[in-house]
Amino acid sequence: MTQRIYVDNAGTTPLSQKAMDAMLPYFMEEFGNASAVYDMGVRAKAAREDARRKIATALGARDNEIYFTSGGTESDNWSLHGAAELRHGHGKHIVITAIEHSAVLHTAEKLESCGYDVSYLTTDDKGRITPDQVLEALRPDTVLVSIMYANNEVGTLLPIKELCAATKQYNRKILFHTDAVQAVGHIPLNVRELGVDLLSLSAHKFNGPKGIGALYMKLGSALPAYMTGGGHEKGRRSGTDNIPGIVGMAVALEESVHDIDASMPHILKLRDRLTEGVLQIGGSHLTGDPVNRLPGSASFVFEKLTNAPLIKRLADHGICASAGSACSAGSGDPSRVLLALGYPAELAKASLRITLGKYNTAEEIEYIIDTLGVLVAELRMGKSPIVGISYSDKPD
Ligand code: PLP
Repeated sequence: MTQRIYVDNAGTTPLSQKAMDAMLPYFMEEFGNASAVYDMGVRAKAAREDARRKIATALGARDNEIYFTSGGTESDNWSLHGAAELRHGHGKHIVITAIEHSAVLHTAEKLESCGYDVSYLTTDDKGRITPDQVLEALRPDTVLVSIMYANNEVGTLLPIKELCAATKQYNRKILFHTDAVQAVGHIPLNVRELGVDLLSLSAHKFNGPKGIGALYMKLGSALPAYMTGGGHEKGRRSGTDNIPGIVGMAVALEESVHDIDASMPHILKLRDRLTEGVLQIGGSHLTGDPVNRLPGSASFVFEKLTNAPLIKRLADHGICASAGSACSAGSGDPSRVLLALGYPAELAKASLRITLGKYNTAEEIEYIIDTLGVLVAELRMGKSPIVGISYSDKPD
């Protein structure tokens, strides 16, 4: 039987065993509501606060700057809507980039439909933005700049520290948010050094559980309540605490940050071998910044190909990869990020994102390179699948 090779780690990641073990007691024995005053509630509250401390430490933040949310999408929505509300009366101009995740892009579009003016910064062909571009876009009525830390399709890392410094140099009252969902747990990152006011993270991108995330809010720039209700999270984000999720996220983040030094060289080696091998395939190109990119990220386009059948054939051979973003995997539509980078529609429909994690092996990479070479040739010739290549046929 064909084994599964999972290389869609930007889409989501498997839960770590440590996170799972830490979460388990909070489903049954310790199921108390953290707002309750009896012993089980007190212990749930203590677990939540311990998790908050761990997350704050991992990010270089203070405990009271971390707010729990349901994930990256909510943290992004809160940042944009919250900043608009907080700075109401100071202006109606927002700056984002054209390559933001839909959670930021569509939220900005929604604000636009409510009378906000949004500037969409365009990147160069590698997905890069400069501080000068930000400075040129800023206006006396700008209330928020939101720029992602790492792009989820092509993996390009944006110079957030410099972009934030340029914004603050123009007007320190403009809030700076970064969607760091793809970066947290994968590269060293410290909110104080970055200088940002708001930072979004999501547990399932760093081997934590799904449906839980956090928003870092720098002291002094705390946003108004997003979810109103019972007054949880200092009245800013109501809703019964997801204690298993919160505990699992904290353990996964602590583990990922602890493992960065050990896992990064392994992941980089695999990614570089993968890139070298895939670029041997005629008409293939690496997308995004070749140097400043996420360690596990390798995205390609293939001339004379569309990605939907390629991704399907890869899946038939046990390889779990995606087109660009997990949301658009296999849709056949051109990637809006690649279009924004200036790729023609034909190539923007031919993207393949392979994102590696610490559990991938050198043997898997060789199998991906071999399989991809065969499948690309086969699809270009319009042939039906070549049978007989299977991961399990490979020697141990
Ligand atoms: N931002 C980025 C850059 C992402 O890659 C994702 C998920 O793919 C999100 C936000 C949304 O995060 P979540 O799935 O936790 O809602």
